[in-house]
Amino acid sequence: LVSRKEKQEDTIIQLGDVTVGGGKPIMIAGPCSVESYKQVRTVAAALKEAGITVMRGGAFKPRTSPYDFQGLGIEGLKILKEVASEFGLKTISEIVDPAHIELACDYIDVIQIGARNMQNFELLKAAGDVKTPILLKRGLAATLDEFVHAAEYIVSRGNTQVMLIERGIRTYEKATRNTLDISAVPILKQETHLPVLVDVTHSTGRKDILAPCAKAALAAGADGVMVEVHPDPATALSDAAQQLNIPQFHDFYAEVKKSGLM
Ligand code: PEP
Ligand code: MN
Repeated sequence: LVSRKEKQEDTIIQLGDVTVGGGKPIMIAGPCSVESYKQVRTVAAALKEAGITVMRGGAFKPRTSPYDFQGLGIEGLKILKEVASEFGLKTISEIVDPAHIELACDYIDVIQIGARNMQNFELLKAAGDVKTPILLKRGLAATLDEFVHAAEYIVSRGNTQVMLIERGIRTYEKATRNTLDISAVPILKQETHLPVLVDVTHSTGRKDILAPCAKAALAAGADGVMVEVHPDPATALSDAAQQLNIPQFHDFYAEVKKSGLM
């Protein structure tokens, strides 16, 4: 169902008056984790000022260590909803438990399925049973064929509102946190009709190369870019090393826009 052979026209996802796919690329930004009302509100105000319309923020965090911050859970979704409604922003947040999918639809505009859960088939099926758009991340070591099949799980249950996001894959290279597979963008655009985005933060894990990587993604045909922004990255409860602070975000976004690619 997600194949270009089945449907030639691009799938366009409408989040109220925000459009993803089929035209002007979108910039999605926000903190790695929702940490507090004040933290999210500070980021939201900066995003609004920059003209950003979609904010991300993790409430359920899939962490490598069980001793690391696990997220605020439902409380985090409530914070996102409250702040987003104040600023007129759309929201994206990760859900990790099939039992939370329906409930999440009351709080957020897009449900993210994270890299670690790309082949959590029960989660994919639950995501396929709702109408809320899904942002599906590529698995840490998933082939593009596996990625596309994961999307098929969702669409085959009836939810056609799926966006794919390349977030880097595991390779032997240590200079970046993951290896950004730029070729995934034109391949996924060619083989599927779904919007394709690139997460420059998790793919590189490096603040110093975000702008060129975002430009490369857009030049390759990406429908959008996602980046992490935190008011004070040094104190962040997750991904402290890789989040941009607010002035850095403004510089990053200005540089990407200057390219004329978005
Ligand atoms: C995230 O976007 O918050 C995240 C955890 O990313 P990934 O699933 O790509 O590691
Ligand atoms: Mn993160």
